[in-house]
Amino acid sequence: MFHFDRGLKLTAADLAVDFRRRQPRGFISHAHSDHMARHELALCTPGTAALYHLRCGVRPVMEMPYRQTVEWGGLRLTTYPAGHCLGSAMLLADDGERTLLYTGDFKLGPSATSEPAEVPRADVLVMESTFGDPRYRLPPREEAIGQLLELVRKTLADGQTPVIEAYALGKSQEVTRILTDAGVAVLQHAEVHRVSQVYEQQGMPLGNFMRLAANLVPGKAVVAPPGPRYKQLAGVRRPVRIAVTGWAHDPAAKYRLGVDHAVPLSDHADYDDLLSTVEQVNPSEVHCTHGPARFVDRLLDAGWNAFVLGRARQERLF
Ligand SMILES: [Zn+2]
Repeated sequence: MFHFDRGLKLTAADLAVDFRRRQPRGFISHAHSDHMARHELALCTPGTAALYHLRCGVRPVMEMPYRQTVEWGGLRLTTYPAGHCLGSAMLLADDGERTLLYTGDFKLGPSATSEPAEVPRADVLVMESTFGDPRYRLPPREEAIGQLLELVRKTLADGQTPVIEAYALGKSQEVTRILTDAGVAVLQHAEVHRVSQVYEQQGMPLGNFMRLAANLVPGKAVVAPPGPRYKQLAGVRRPVRIAVTGWAHDPAAKYRLGVDHAVPLSDHADYDDLLSTVEQVNPSEVHCTHGPARFVDRLLDAGWNAFVLGRARQERLF
């Protein structure tokens, strides 16, 4: 069904999944840079295709809308929403005997800007496990949103400028929509704004937002990517920096991220969601990727037939 060649490959279709190196045929689960390359032919959802063209230039794509099965190299392939960002998809592959579900990055529950995840059953599960540690049981989403809105309103009332640091693709658009829904106008850094225009073209409205310009700041929140090169923003006076990330659940996060506040709103499944996803899929084997190897031990303890993706043998690592 699949093999590992410095990444996941669906053997019958010779289809590389989320490779960062150029491939003849590559499935792209979503348009974050650690999941894509300039493939000769990319397979992805229409939302991901639009973002892929923005980030990599216009390239050959076979679009795979959600829930529409295609026959491809002896496999039946179907995408399902992954709830992570615009166009993010899980991939279900069926060779007639067994099914394999590859989750890509995913999040359960509602999102302001992406379709909620749908998790089909499968025989083999290949799952991202970013927060595969019990320390990462994140607070309820409504609590994190309440915390963000309270910080933003207080900062504005004090005559300061809330600067929300969020990844340019996905988190920035979700934060923007949360703020504009709450009546707070948003100014976006140019990198964020380019992505937001694709969201709107794809039918995902973000409300009252504009591109950040030197003379437009008072009374509005600013959304910009994280990182030192975005610390100086034209026209922003008295900034109060708020990181929005699942890693904020760690009390030391705000010091590590160099911000005033950190809000634990994530676009990844937290620890409990990872476990409930395995239960929902109910596979005969689970292969974990993008997370702590220790998570595999937790699955073994819970009675699952679990592996680190790419290691053929089941072994305890800790
Ligand atoms: Zn991602």
